[in-house]
Amino acid sequence: VVSEEVPRFKNVAKLYPDWHQKARCLGTDDSLFFGSGDPDVRPPYTLAEISNARAICAECPVARECLTTALKNREEYGVWAGSTRKQRKAILIRVKTGVTTLPDEVEEHVTRLGRVHIKITIKGVVRE
Ligand code: SF4
Repeated sequence: VVSEEVPRFKNVAKLYPDWHQKARCLGTDDSLFFGSGDPDVRPPYTLAEISNARAICAECPVARECLTTALKNREEYGVWAGSTRKQRKAILIRVKTGVTTLPDEVEEHVTRLGRVHIKITIKGVVRE
């Protein structure tokens, strides 16, 4: 049986490279990272959905590989290493204009992602 489901991704063939075997999102529902809304409406995900995806990405050991892949493939859809399409576009502009390099941007983004997650976790613990 051939699935009639229309892929929501731009580069389906590159979706599951080797590094993805170690991903925190492995085996999870795609809607966690691509939103539950209409894929033709931008953005298809809510702020809460982005936040939930970021919490998973913040603990992912392959976040650097993930974001690098998304940037190199010019991924328009989904949350990759906690980044939105808008953030990736901004990174690519900075890289293209020579303000920074792709590896530096990836490192900064992933480091910031981890810090934000730690803050949220600490806040959650204090509130309990
Ligand atoms: S960083 Fe997030 S989207 Fe990327 S592989 Fe890890 S859990 Fe999945």
